[in-house]
Amino acid sequence: MDYLYGGDRETRVGYGLFWCNTCKRGVHISRLYIPAVVSENKVIYFDDPRGSEKQAQLVPEFKRMTP
Ligand SMILES: [Zn+2]
Repeated sequence: MDYLYGGDRETRVGYGLFWCNTCKRGVHISRLYIPAVVSENKVIYFDDPRGSEKQAQLVPEFKRMTP
């Protein structure tokens, strides 16, 4: 499984994308707390002007499953 978080830098509320690179299935969890220990290349903050561009580079197309 791979993952990426997106959210607010201060409140750390955001969303998480979790997917499998083999079968290209995953989930989008829309409201969660981003763990404090998450590495910098696994989180995109809402104040990042290149956020959507970065997300497109990091996240492959995957089928959203119901969590
Ligand atoms: Zn899989």
